[in-house]
Amino acid sequence: MEPLVAPCNRHTRDMTMNLDPHTDISTIAGTVARTREAYNAGTTRPLSWRRTQLQRIIDMLEENESEFIDALKADLGKPMVEGFITDLAFVTSEIKLMLKNLTKWNSTERVPTPLVAMPAKSFLMPEPLGVVCVIAPWNYPVQLLLVPAAGAIAAGNAVVLKPSEVSPNVSAVLARLVDKYLDNNAIALIEGGVAETTELLAQKFDHIFYTGNGKIGRVVMAAAAVNLTPVTLELGGKSPVFIDESAKISVAARRVAWGKWLNAGQTCVAPDYVLVHEKVEEKFVDELRKSLNDFYGSNPHTSDSYGRIVSPRHFDRLLSLMNGGTPIIGGESSREDRYIAPTVLGNVNLDSALMQEEIFGPLLPIITVKSSKEAIDFITARDHPLALYVFAEKSSVIDDVLAHTTAGGVTVNGTLLHLTSPHLPFGGVGESGMGAYHGKAGVRIFQHMKPVLKRGTAIDPKMAYPPYTPRKLKIFRKVL
Ligand code: NAD
Repeated sequence: MEPLVAPCNRHTRDMTMNLDPHTDISTIAGTVARTREAYNAGTTRPLSWRRTQLQRIIDMLEENESEFIDALKADLGKPMVEGFITDLAFVTSEIKLMLKNLTKWNSTERVPTPLVAMPAKSFLMPEPLGVVCVIAPWNYPVQLLLVPAAGAIAAGNAVVLKPSEVSPNVSAVLARLVDKYLDNNAIALIEGGVAETTELLAQKFDHIFYTGNGKIGRVVMAAAAVNLTPVTLELGGKSPVFIDESAKISVAARRVAWGKWLNAGQTCVAPDYVLVHEKVEEKFVDELRKSLNDFYGSNPHTSDSYGRIVSPRHFDRLLSLMNGGTPIIGGESSREDRYIAPTVLGNVNLDSALMQEEIFGPLLPIITVKSSKEAIDFITARDHPLALYVFAEKSSVIDDVLAHTTAGGVTVNGTLLHLTSPHLPFGGVGESGMGAYHGKAGVRIFQHMKPVLKRGTAIDPKMAYPPYTPRKLKIFRKVL
C-alpha cells in the first residue's frame, strides 16, 4: 500500500514557491506605448491579423499543454483533468467560437431610420476601443487572463496582459510563451504584483478588464477614473445555495460537492454557503459525505483529484475562518503542502468572518431554514451574489427564488454550469461586479458600436430648415 505521506511529498516537490516573476518597472510605460503605436498604426485592425493571433493562442496552449498543466499543479495542486478542462480547453473553445463568428461579430448591423431623417440608412459599426489592459487573478490563471484577452483581440484591440503574481509558475510560463507565440508589438505581458500593477494602471488605457476581489476592484476603478477609462470588474462574493425540501437530495448533494470542491473551493462561483430546509438537512449532509467519499476516497489528502490552497497566506486565512462553525465533515489540514480537507461546518455563527467574508476555499457552512421565503430573505438581506443556486423539484419554489433575488447568474438544480455557456453572458451585479463576457458578449465588451446615419443627397426637402412657419409646425406635429 502507498504510504499516506506520499501525496504531501509529491505536492511539496512540485511547488516552486520561491518563484517571483516580475517585469522591470522602468520598462512598463514604454511597453504600453509600443502597443499604442501598433494600434495607431492599424496593426490590429485587419481580421487576418486577429485570426492569426487567436489561432496562435490555441497553438500555444495545445503545443505546451504539459507545461501549463505542470505549472497549474505547482501553483494550485490542480489535478490534470481539472487544469485541462477549466483552464486550457475553456480558452480554446471560447476562441474557436470567436474564430467561427469573427466576420459576423465584426460586421455592421443595419437598424431602422426614423421618418424625420429620411432618406438615409442607419447602421451600427463595430470598432475596437484601442489598447485594453487585462488583469487576472490566480485561481484559473490561464482562463481568466486569456479569455478576456482573446475577446479584446477578436474586437481588434491591442492588449496588455497582467497575470497574477500569486500563481507564479503559470505567470512565468505565460510570459515566456506569449512572447514567443504572439505579435509583441500589439500584445504585451507584464508580470508582477502591487508595484508593477500600480505602474501599469498609471498608463492610459481605453478599457480595463479586471478580475479579482472587490477591494482591489475599487483601486482599479479609481485609477481608471483619472483617464475616464471604462472598466469591467469581474468580482466575487458569497454565492448561496438553497436546498428546498422538494429537491432530489442525492443529486443536489453531488452537484454541490462538485461545484464546491473543484479547485479546492477556489472558484469565484463556488457555492459559498448552503441554506437547507430543516426537513432535509440530515439527509443532505449524509449525501454530501457519500459524494465526497465517491470523489476523493476516505482520505482526500491522498487523492489525485483534489487540489491545494494557493499560498500559505490563503491557507492561514481559511484556517482562521473555520472558527466560525463546527466541522461535521473534514476539518483536517496540513500547512506543509497547503492541504485543507473538504470541510462542512454546522453550528454556524452568522456574525463570524466565515459568514461575513467570501470563503474562497474548501469550507462549506450549512445553515437551516424553515421555508423558501426565509432563504430568500436571507439572500436579499446581503450583497447581490455573483452566482446563486437553487435546488427544488417544485417549480413554484424555483420561480419564487428567481423572481425575488438578484444575482450575477443562476444555475437551477446544479452549480457553476451557467458560466460554461457562451450564450449566457457571465458577470456580477452590484458588489459582485459590473459588465459581462463569454461568447459574443466577450467580444462586444471591447467594441464601440459606432452609430452611423448615412444620408443620400438626391433630394433635400426644405421642410426641416428655417424659416419656421405655422404650416411646417402642423406637419411636424403629425410626423413626430
Ligand atoms: P489576486 O490576488 O491575484 O489579485 C487579482 C489581480 O489584482 C492580480 O493580477 C494582482 O496582481 C492585482 N492586484 C493585487 N493588488 C493590487 C493593487 N493594490 N493594485 C492593483 N492591482 C492589484 O486575486 P484575488 O483578488 O485574490 O482573486 C480572488 C477574488 O477574485 C475572489 O474574490 C474571487 O471571487 C474573484 N474572482 C472573480 C472571478 C469572476 O470571474 N467574477 C473569477 C475569479 C476570481
